[in-house]
Amino acid sequence: MKQPVIAIDGPAASGKSTVAALVAQALGALNVNTGAMFRAVTLAGMQRGITTAAMCTEERFRDILDHITLTYATNADGKLELQLDGDFPGAKLRSPEVAALVSPVATLGCVRDYLKQWQRSLAGTHLLVMEGRDIGTAVFPDARWKYFITASPEERARRRLNQSGETFTGATLEQVAAEIAERDRIDSTRAIAPLKPAPDAVLIDTTGMTIEDVVEQITRQVRHEI
Ligand code: C5P
Repeated sequence: MKQPVIAIDGPAASGKSTVAALVAQALGALNVNTGAMFRAVTLAGMQRGITTAAMCTEERFRDILDHITLTYATNADGKLELQLDGDFPGAKLRSPEVAALVSPVATLGCVRDYLKQWQRSLAGTHLLVMEGRDIGTAVFPDARWKYFITASPEERARRRLNQSGETFTGATLEQVAAEIAERDRIDSTRAIAPLKPAPDAVLIDTTGMTIEDVVEQITRQVRHEI
């Protein structure tokens, strides 16, 4: 029995967060951004003195995971938002410091297991849109719909630089492209749940496509099959 999950995976800045949010809105589904979960665990590590990739060890993070409270809570706008130790980290999750450490943190088995368990617990009878790197391969291999969203490296760097809410103040296109490329390298070569399309995922190269086109392609297929 396939699960009522729309899994949207893809590399950094491929546009998948925007697409996932709009698809969820169009279909009245719950939208879960798993990248934010990995970023929140990274921020929790930074608040406890983790400053370099070399400090991102299983031992340190097992202890950190034992001491944090990560949950969804209703924010001032009445929306569900990720909460870390009673605070809404919001824009802090998108800081360059978090972006630089999140991929090393995401290689750790203890972090992946902790988040996978939570991610799976969010599935139920309602429709769920979940986006990340390993949703179609590791978290929900039985998801009813799977998409792998890509775009050319130049297009992705441009999108990231233009994205509102990003805090790459003053960064050049080259710097943003280098940060994205390094994250993709670590994400696609790690031992556990590396970034790759599930064999049964629909591949969408969004270079030259509008967001609306991508959202339309996905919602049309889901509506047709629901
Ligand atoms: O999607 P976003 O760019 O916010 O993800 C941040 C990082 O979290 C990724 O570069 C990756 O290292 C990690 N991640 C992951 N698995 C997911 C989602 C994110 O490893 N399902």
